[in-house]
Amino acid sequence: MAMTSSNSGFAPWPDRLRRSAIILIATALGLAASVVYGGLTLPQAGLIFLVIGGAALVPWHLHQAVPNSEDMIGARPAETPVVQALVGGMPDAAVLLDRAGRVLHFNTAASQLAPALRKNELALFALRSPEIIAALREAIATRQPQRAGYVDRVPIDRWMELIVTPLSLPTAFGGSEYCILMTFHDQTALRRVEEMRADFVANASHELRTPLAALSGFIDTLQGPARDDAKARDRFLGIMHAQATRMARLIDDLLSLSRVELSAHVRPEKMVDVVPLIRQVVDGLEPLASERQVAIELQLPSSPVLIAGDTEELLRVFENLIENGLKYGASGGRVVVSLTEPGADDATGEIRVAVRDFGPGIPPEHLPRLTERFYRVDVGDSRAQGGTGLGLSLVKHILNRHRGRLMIESVAGQGATFTACFPATKTASDETVAAKE
Ligand code: ADP
Repeated sequence: MAMTSSNSGFAPWPDRLRRSAIILIATALGLAASVVYGGLTLPQAGLIFLVIGGAALVPWHLHQAVPNSEDMIGARPAETPVVQALVGGMPDAAVLLDRAGRVLHFNTAASQLAPALRKNELALFALRSPEIIAALREAIATRQPQRAGYVDRVPIDRWMELIVTPLSLPTAFGGSEYCILMTFHDQTALRRVEEMRADFVANASHELRTPLAALSGFIDTLQGPARDDAKARDRFLGIMHAQATRMARLIDDLLSLSRVELSAHVRPEKMVDVVPLIRQVVDGLEPLASERQVAIELQLPSSPVLIAGDTEELLRVFENLIENGLKYGASGGRVVVSLTEPGADDATGEIRVAVRDFGPGIPPEHLPRLTERFYRVDVGDSRAQGGTGLGLSLVKHILNRHRGRLMIESVAGQGATFTACFPATKTASDETVAAKE
């Protein structure tokens, strides 16, 4: 039964019996002394004992009905250790306030967000942002949930969302205690993804709109002023072909990117020899190399070099890196493509395919951003070369999928080296050798 259980909120039974027994013994001793020394008759003393004994039983019932002072504190549920632990354990910044907006509990994340927060003080004094203050005031006045977004500028810009939730906590006596829970959610990562998505759509649309505008402009010209000009027609059709090719390439790159992203978590397992793949790409780029008067030097091992990879994706990686070397580093007249396997003292254990050119190189401030979508050192130059600004981004995603990485090194004026690094995979024969050792 609830009344007899030790956590019912009342004094336990042994306690109550002890108190009553003490009263009865004290009364009996007092009455005995009065009979002996005070002239009290025995029936009178018996009557008094019965009255006091009966009265001693009454507190048993009072114990059950009236909680002691500790129980009274427990009757304010918002101030119990359980609620304090709940607020403290919340992963986001959280502050619990009483109905007037005074701080009852807050967690570590909240104290980092608002270092001026103090227990039993008004939260409004500790909060800086006008949006938070307005939402809190509104919640206190209306007892309705409120939301507010604001930017926290210290120590770095963070986009935060505050949710103010009025709560009604039931008390032990059937009433309720009204309080307010404030939780702060960091929306920065979400916001960045949202900005990236919007930028990506804007960039892709812009890149497609430029050749499209050129195409429709030339169509208009061919239908109008240049209708009967055979020479102009040939020249314009050549430009239109180049623009249409650029659009097709852009769409190809966009589709490849989304395909690689979709399979990013699935690592390719098939073993592929990369040596013939590099030769195949170099053969395919020979016409571009001779057009740009660049000599491609190959430094490849004579034996196969196996990695766990996707053939088509590896071809895209080598094609992008070597083509960039030919396009942007043409002035150096030479591109060196080398493949190195990890040596015995190489702690990284990587197979590396490096493409080095001797062109103008890349200023250091651009290096960290080169693999961003649509990022180009010189947009005009890239467009003139038929570039889309997606090549290195695609390379990075493919290498990530292969659990590899892209290294970019460049000294302005001395060319650039792009290195695709792949984790070396143990072959069956390696394992046999290791087992023998
Ligand atoms: P794009 O389609 O423009 O070539 P990429 O993603 O392949 O796009 O390359 C991004 C930018 O990096 C290029 O526009 C160019 O400015 C720069 N870049 C890439 N490779 C080289 C290189 N070998 N030398 C100098 N700049 C390079």
